[in-house]
Amino acid sequence: MSDSFDVVVIGGGPAGYPAAIRAAQNKLSVACIDEWKNLDGAFAFGGTCLNAGCIPSKALLESSELYHRVHDEFAVHGIKASGVSLDLGQMQKRKAGIVKTMTQGILALFKAAGVTALQGHGKLLPDHRVEYTAHDGTRRELTAKNVILASGSAPTELRSAPFDGKRIVDSWGALEFNAVPKKLGVIGAGVIGLELGSVWRRLGSEVVVLEALPDFLAIADQQLAKEALRHLKKQGLDIRLGAKVTAASLLSMDAVRSARCLARE
Ligand SMILES: Cc1cc2nc3c(=O)[nH]c(=O)nc-3n(C[C@H](O)[C@H](O)[C@H](O)COP(=O)(O)OP(=O)(O)OC[C@H]3O[C@@H](n4cnc5c(N)ncnc54)[C@H](O)[C@@H]3O)c2cc1C
Repeated sequence: MSDSFDVVVIGGGPAGYPAAIRAAQNKLSVACIDEWKNLDGAFAFGGTCLNAGCIPSKALLESSELYHRVHDEFAVHGIKASGVSLDLGQMQKRKAGIVKTMTQGILALFKAAGVTALQGHGKLLPDHRVEYTAHDGTRRELTAKNVILASGSAPTELRSAPFDGKRIVDSWGALEFNAVPKKLGVIGAGVIGLELGSVWRRLGSEVVVLEALPDFLAIADQQLAKEALRHLKKQGLDIRLGAKVTAASLLSMDAVRSARCLARE
């Protein structure tokens, strides 16, 4: 395999993988490097969006909406449904299946376009060089006429509520709960916090959203924000504005067992 490319893309998320495909379609030799590892140990392209963001969250939003409707809305329409219960394991399995299909689709697109897919860590070096370390530790030095850095972002940890992977989790952790938390605190009423708060509320959690800013969705169109706030409150989200989290601590063993806290990205 050649170690010399017209373009090397570091990062195979929604920024990196289309750039790699487009460059290859324009007859350039392209490699795309990505180090993403999923919780089951599988390596995947697609970045946050496909593996731990847009796609899995939309899958859970759809499932939780159906559950919520059958539970809370059918009766109003004169539809009687009995014996309805939640199978969270199946819901998570469906979500994982969608993620897998979509991330594997990227490999198929790479193959069709002629992009060299490299799974592992990419490091930019001087003089148009990139160091590629495969997941098995093997290193190669690539040369590239052009390098595209599309390394994305990672959730930010709050000093006042550091992640512990159990009770205080980031957005990825909040997509992976294997039981519906009795209580869920969401730090940050941004789109991600609201989306995930909504999923777990619909599935039965008591959800409190804490937002430091005094305004709801301050950067959005305010008419839309007002409508969204009304809708989310009706759904049962307890949204508290102007509430800055200064510390996180355990209240009681009961609270420990049931409470989880989602720190914002
Ligand atoms: C729960 C949730 C829901 C979201 N929903 C939406 C939505 O509905 N609509 C929307 O537009 N956006 C949504 N987003 C945001 C969206 O996921 C991001 O905007 C998007 O993923 C950014 O794409 P990116 O390619 O820049 O970065 P990323 O998706 O983060 O991809 C970067 C990739 O680079 C790789 N990488 C980083 N450094 C290296 C390195 N040195 N070597 C090799 N690989 C490296 C990473 O492994 C990763 O795969 C959501 C996010 C979350 C968390």
